[in-house]
Amino acid sequence: MENIIYKFTGDPFVDAGIWAICGWVGKTKPEELDKEDLKKITGDIVQLYLTEKWAKSLFSIFPNNPITNPSVKDKKTRYSNYLNGLIGYINKMPAEATGNCISCGHRDVKEIRTKTDIPLIGSGTMINFFPSGQSGGDYCPACTFAVQFSPLVLYRCGKLLLVHSNSDKIMRYWSKKAIKDVRRQTLMKGYTGCFNEYFTNPINALFNIIESMIREYDENWLNENPSINLYHFTNYNQGPDIDTYHVPTPIFMFLAYVKQHERYDDWKKIVKKGYKKVDWDKVKEEDEYKNKTNLVYNNLLKNKSIIGYFLNRKNREIIGDWNLFIFYLKEVKKMDPKRLETLKRVGDELSEYIKSTDNTKRLSDLERVKNYGSFRNILRKIIKDRINNADKPMFSLEEYVEYLFPDGYLSWRETQDLLLFRIYEDLHDWLKNKELPENEVEEEISDDKN
Ligand SMILES: [Zn+2]
Repeated sequence: MENIIYKFTGDPFVDAGIWAICGWVGKTKPEELDKEDLKKITGDIVQLYLTEKWAKSLFSIFPNNPITNPSVKDKKTRYSNYLNGLIGYINKMPAEATGNCISCGHRDVKEIRTKTDIPLIGSGTMINFFPSGQSGGDYCPACTFAVQFSPLVLYRCGKLLLVHSNSDKIMRYWSKKAIKDVRRQTLMKGYTGCFNEYFTNPINALFNIIESMIREYDENWLNENPSINLYHFTNYNQGPDIDTYHVPTPIFMFLAYVKQHERYDDWKKIVKKGYKKVDWDKVKEEDEYKNKTNLVYNNLLKNKSIIGYFLNRKNREIIGDWNLFIFYLKEVKKMDPKRLETLKRVGDELSEYIKSTDNTKRLSDLERVKNYGSFRNILRKIIKDRINNADKPMFSLEEYVEYLFPDGYLSWRETQDLLLFRIYEDLHDWLKNKELPENEVEEEISDDKN
């Protein structure tokens, strides 16, 4: 195997640094990096870090390093010497070489590193998130060096966000995007520190990052199966802290492909509905709502249902169509296609029944029902009603058990929502002309619903 300096390690800070170096020197993957690249980025970046805003950003990444330590006088020389000293240890090695570095497992450690070198690890008596409680971490010079450039691909969001993915494409695109901002700063000589689009809500920032990546790079994600971890952290001396967020592959894939869906505009309406406490009549620009809690985003990340957001219960209306709805149910909820087919057919038959018998009372019953038993009871009444006119029963026993209520009382609400969605889709215009009283069922806009 060919000798290399870097490959993906799985350590989020080290990987971020490696991709930052790739982005800066214009290489498409870590394996292509050579020693000249390390020298180039060192020469370019020390100067950048010394600017006021970048130095300020570094306070919450590398406290007490030569740049952030006020007692260090010749910051440029000290930090350059530190980086060049690390480069001195870094040579190409066989990819299968092993060492005791906890990050790459590829090289040996020269010196135990502290939170001044690597964010969020122990430092003397200040032992933070380092697992074995030792006073520092076993990082080799190459990993330590890489981490120094991670700030170039961090995203300011109150604290800082670190994006980490199993997908090379995501890491490459993300580092490219962040580096583009750094280059803009350099060109304009207007230094603003880590990439900042003025998000303060990390979950909304995460969805913004994903959506902009999907928008800007027309990519086939099908073979990539990307998942993303996001670390929202500060390594500030007075209170280091970290929160993590995980975007599983199905959610990424859903977001990537809903963009190509013919009802994409309706998906945007659903997302908009997720924002809490926004007076849309008064909103003029994105900044006024982009940091408000968004329950659609929150629920997606918590693996909670967003079915309720496709329905406007009060007006007996839906957002999108059956096709968009099942795209979400199949991609994200992994719902059995046979179950969806059955629910669609039963929904259609219920619509037909309500319309042909003009029995809107049964619809209100279906809407208002409060428990599994009563719900089944209403279905039973409808079946009984239909017996005289229909040549076939509405569903077989097998369909009832397997597809309508596969988890019994646990999922009856979901079944109710799916049937109502289809009925509203079928009957919205007809119902509108009936001038029924508003559905009194409360809109279930909450983050507690499973
Ligand atoms: Zn290492």
